[in-house]
Order: sequence, then structure tokens, then C-alpha cells
Amino acid sequence: MARLIHRLRQLRHSDERITAAVRATLVESLYASPRSLVIGALTSTVIAAVVAAVSRDHWLATCATMIGLVAVVRIADTVRLQRQAMVGATVRRQERGYRLGALSYAGLLGLFGLLTLTRTADGVLQLLAVTTAIGYAAGIAGRNAARPSIALTQLCGASLPLVVGLLIALDPLKAVLAAVILLFVVAMMEITLQTYEAILRAVVVSHEKAALAEHHAAMARRDDLTGLANRTAFREQFEARLAAMEASGGALALLWLDLDRFKEVNDTFGHLAGNALLIAVAERLRRTFTGSGTVARLGGDEFAIVCALDHPDEAVAIGRRLLGVVGEPAQCDGHQLRSSVSVGVAVAPRDGADADTLLKNADLALYRAKESGRGQMSLYEPAMDEKIERRRQLAAELHGALQRGEFHLVYQPIYDLAGERITSCEALLRWTNRRHGAVSPAEFIPIAEDNGQIVAIGNWVLHQACRTASEWPAHVSIAVNLSPVQLRASNLPAVVISALDATGLAPQRLHLEVTESVLLEDVDSSLAALKALNRLAVNTTLDDFGTGYSALSYLTRFPFQTLKIDRSFVTDLDRSPASIAIVQTVVDLAAKLGMRTVAEGVETVAQLDQLRRTRCDAVQGYLLARPMPAEMVAAMFAGTRLRAGTG
Ligand code: C2E
Ligand code: MG
Ligand code: MG
Repeated sequence: MARLIHRLRQLRHSDERITAAVRATLVESLYASPRSLVIGALTSTVIAAVVAAVSRDHWLATCATMIGLVAVVRIADTVRLQRQAMVGATVRRQERGYRLGALSYAGLLGLFGLLTLTRTADGVLQLLAVTTAIGYAAGIAGRNAARPSIALTQLCGASLPLVVGLLIALDPLKAVLAAVILLFVVAMMEITLQTYEAILRAVVVSHEKAALAEHHAAMARRDDLTGLANRTAFREQFEARLAAMEASGGALALLWLDLDRFKEVNDTFGHLAGNALLIAVAERLRRTFTGSGTVARLGGDEFAIVCALDHPDEAVAIGRRLLGVVGEPAQCDGHQLRSSVSVGVAVAPRDGADADTLLKNADLALYRAKESGRGQMSLYEPAMDEKIERRRQLAAELHGALQRGEFHLVYQPIYDLAGERITSCEALLRWTNRRHGAVSPAEFIPIAEDNGQIVAIGNWVLHQACRTASEWPAHVSIAVNLSPVQLRASNLPAVVISALDATGLAPQRLHLEVTESVLLEDVDSSLAALKALNRLAVNTTLDDFGTGYSALSYLTRFPFQTLKIDRSFVTDLDRSPASIAIVQTVVDLAAKLGMRTVAEGVETVAQLDQLRRTRCDAVQGYLLARPMPAEMVAAMFAGTRLRAGTG
């Protein structure tokens, strides 16, 4: 008994500690079996009505009517609650409502029993009233055990008036029954509390499991590093937004971002700095698109954004904003990093209606953006499919092209203007593919650079060119183009030495040409590579000078022996005085710095004359000679005097 009292006392405290979600489940269980409530209400009401009618007692009649009324209200309440979810504040309100109905009902049944015991002498009526109240009390102690305070009060409300009624009669047999009912109440209390504890444990465990499962599900859809949605979650959200767009109209922009040269950040500053950069970018994207877009990290250095558009043209402005936002410098692991991003954009429904098509098209646009340099944005255009497809095919065909012997070199003579003879030839690579025929180097070299094949191809070019040149007169050198990828390779000096050794060509006769983009991208390593080449006594040439963004000051920093003025300036010499001035300045500056100048792309006599006047050292172009096979070059050495031009 003492234990029971202790447990009853504890009940209040422990009830305050249960979580809102657990409480909601417990309260819901009160309404879980409407059928038992209806059966209980109907049977008790019918029995009360019968007892009242037979006894013809108006007190009993009044009480029976109230029992009927409360029963109707409770059934209506239960039916209403079946239709609405229990959330937040409604849980406590519902519990209070249920408690009021339940207690009034149990109290009325107990009162009805008490009245029957005191106001009638009919043993059968008393039996009916007492068993109904006790039966109800027993049932309710189990049914409502999930909310023990309600169950226990109902138990007492229905049973204790009976005890009073039985004791008032001062009949020993009835007193025995009163004692039995009291024992019954105590036993039922124990059962209710035990049932409650078992239910509570089960509900708590199931809630914990559900919360854990929810947590795992959320984690599986989140990118660990940045906290953004991951690829899976992005796909779901993207599809949901597409479906919403289809239903309500409008347009959506899908922006696919790829950080430029992220690998180099990792390689140069370490993974911590790389991670910090990704986090910083993620944070900026999140801030920029809060509320208006879905932002996700698709993996590596790729991010995606989906946002609604009022008009398809808005996509461009959003893309530009992105370039700016990501382009701002960020402090990463102690390094100030400025990262740029390439963005590919596809707009739904214009560029596709389903997620797969739009993702593919945004990817194509991104590919184009990457191709056109760093920090660029590109919108999807249907023509991209064809171009990219050709690029993919060429990339596949480049594999094994060397082994299949599909490459050969042609040589374009370079004429010395002072001596009017060929002093050098530029080796130019040609590819005749088994499927695509002749492919221009302007098309396939960037592909080979992208997938790294340029290193093997470039080595082959170097060996081949040196071998051919080794058979030329000793005053004729060979110019070989080097891709930036080759220049950055650490084994470049070894490769050059091996080509020279294998062919016996003097290093002074080898001129390696690099374009100025190399100087802008990776100043320190380019400088080191060029110096290493110079140490081998090999000459270096700055090719296509004037096409990039390098300032004239670059010329003082880099060890070039020759400067090649780009064809675009030479072409303009005919008509633009500004070009004449530029070429003159470049030639004069190069001379002061001890560099030779070569003008490439000379196509007209007027251009050649102008170049003579600016005292350019050498010229190369279709006017003088087109690129030609090695045998033709060899044949030309018999008469290398300049045939074209006015002299
Ligand atoms: P580049 O090094 O600037 O080579 C000069 C290009 O201009 C050659 O184009 C040549 O045929 C062309 N050309 C020469 N004179 C004239 C002219 O008077 N008018 C016009 N319109 N063009 C002229 P090609 O052979 O198509 O090569 C294009 C580019 O491909 C080269 O530009 C070079 O950057 C690259 N390339 C060629 N061979 C190799 C190679 O073996 N390795 C690497 N890495 N790149 C190469
Ligand atoms: Mg060149
Ligand atoms: Mg060039």
C-alpha cells in the first residue's frame, strides 16, 4: 500500500518530464479505440435508463438523463478528433477536454449507483447499477492506462460512491461488498500503473527510434563538409520544384557551378585550405540564395542552384551575380584565396522539362564556360550538343592515335629579313584520323591538353622534330610548340635532353615556343621551367605575343630569346597605323632587351614591307611558305633566298 502511495506521488513529477511528442502519442491512445468508448457509453446509458424507468424515481431519471447527455457529447468529441491531427497546444487542450468528459461520466455512474443503493430497495436494480459502475471502472482502468491520472480518478469516481452507498445501508453483507470494492480499487490502481509504465517505455523507445531514423535520413541527404543539400537531396528538391512549376507555370534556372583550378588550391595550399574554400563558397551561396533558391553541393568542387525566374532572361543576371559572389577573396586556413567559378545555366521549361535533360544541358553549358576560360558563365544552346559530341568523339579517337601512326609533322620556314634566308622552321602537328579525317590542331590540341594526352604526343613531336632538323644545315634551327601542360611537367628537361641526345641535335638549334597564357597562370613554376630550359642551352620563344593580357613588363621577367608577334597585329599592319605603332614599339623593346622578333602570319607584300621598315628580325607566313612536309623543306635549302617581297 505504501508503495502504491509512493508511486502515485511520483506520477505527477514523471508526467511533467515526458516530451511533447510522447505525450501526444499517449493522449492519442485515449481516442484510439472509439468503439470501446461508444459501447461503454451506450450500455451504461441504456442500463441507467432502464433502472430509472423501473424505479420511477425522478432523481435517478435526472441522473440517467445526464449520463445520456455526457455520453452523446463524448462520442461526438471522439468522432471529431478522429479527423484531425494532434499537434502542439491541441494535445493539452484535448487531454483536458477528455479528462472533463471522462470524470463527469465516471462520477455520474458512481452517483447513479449511490442513488440506486439509497433510493430503491429493489435488489435487482441495485445489482444492475453497481455492476455497471464497477464494470465501467474496471474497463476504464485498463483502457485509459496511458493517462493514469485520468484512469485512476475515473476508477475512484465510479467506485467510491458505491462504497459510500453500501456502507450507509448498515447491512453487514453490503459492508463486505464495500470492502471488496475497496480492495478491487487498490488492485486496479496497481494494474493501471503497471500498464502505464509498460506503455510509456514502449512509446519512449519507439519515439527514440523514429527520431534516430529521421536524423539518419537527414544526414544521408546532407553534405558533411558544407551542410548544404547533397546530390540526392538536390535531385529530389529539383524534381519537386519542376513539378510545382509545371502545375503553376513560370520558369526555373538551373545553375551548375564548378570552381576553377580547385585541384591546384588543394595541391598548393593543402586540403585544409581547400575545404575552407569550399565552406566559404557554400556559405556565400547560401546567403545569396536564402529563401529564393535551392543550393546544393553535388560533390568535389561542384555546386548547383535552382531558383525561380519571372522571366527566362533573368538567368543571365543571376549567373553574373554568382560570378561576383564566388570571386571575392576568402581567408582559408591562413591563406588569402581568390577563387573563380565557371557557371553553366539551363532554363526550364525552355531547355528541357525533366531533371535529367536539364542537368545534362546545364553540364554542357558548364563545359563550354570552362572551355572559354576561367570565371565564365555560359547559357545552354541546342548547338552545344553537336559540338560536345564531336569533342567527346575526338577525345576517344585521340586514344591510340599515336600508336596508329595518325600524326605527322609539317614544317613552316621562318625567314631572316637581314640575311634573306631560312634560319628556322616551325614544326606543326597534323592529325589525320581514321574516322574524322584531317583535324585541325586548334581543335584537337585543347582536347589533348584537357585529358593529359598532350604530354605523350608532345614528346613524340619533340623527338620527331629534332630528328628531322638534325638533317638540315647547321644554321637552321627548329621551333617546336610546347603546351602549358608540358611546360609544367617536372620531367620536361629530361624529355628535352633525351630528344637532343637521341638525335644529336645541338641544343642551340632547338627553339621551344610557349604562349603567354602560360606566364599568367602559374608565374613561378613557368619561370623555373623556362630557366631550366635555358640552362640546357635550348632557346625559348614567346609565341602569339599580344593575344593574352600580359604587360610589356612581363618581358623583362621571363628569359625568352625570341618574341613572336601574333598574326592579328601583322594582319592589321596593312590598314591600321595603331598596329604599326604597336609592332614598332614591341620590336624596339625586344631589341633593347636582347630578344629577336619574329612576325607570324605574313600574307601580303605590304605587310612584309612594313615589317622590314620596323626592323623585325624574321618573318613567317603563307606569303613566304606554307607549312610543308619535311622532304620539301630539305629540297628548299638549295635556294633559301627570299623570293617574295620587293626587297
Ligand atoms: P602557332 O604556334 O601560332 O602556329 C602558327 C599557326 O599559324 C599554324 O597553324 C600555321 O599554319 C598558321 N599560319 C602560319 N602562317 C600563316 C599565315 O600566313 N596565315 C594564316 N592564316 N595562318 C598562318 P596550325 O598549324 O593550324 O596550328 C595552330 C596552333 O596549334 C599553333 O599555333 C599551335 O599553337 C598549335 N600547335 C600546332 N602544332 C603543335 C604542337 O606540336 N604542339 C602544341 N602544343 N601545339 C601545336
Ligand atoms: Mg608556334
Ligand atoms: Mg603563333
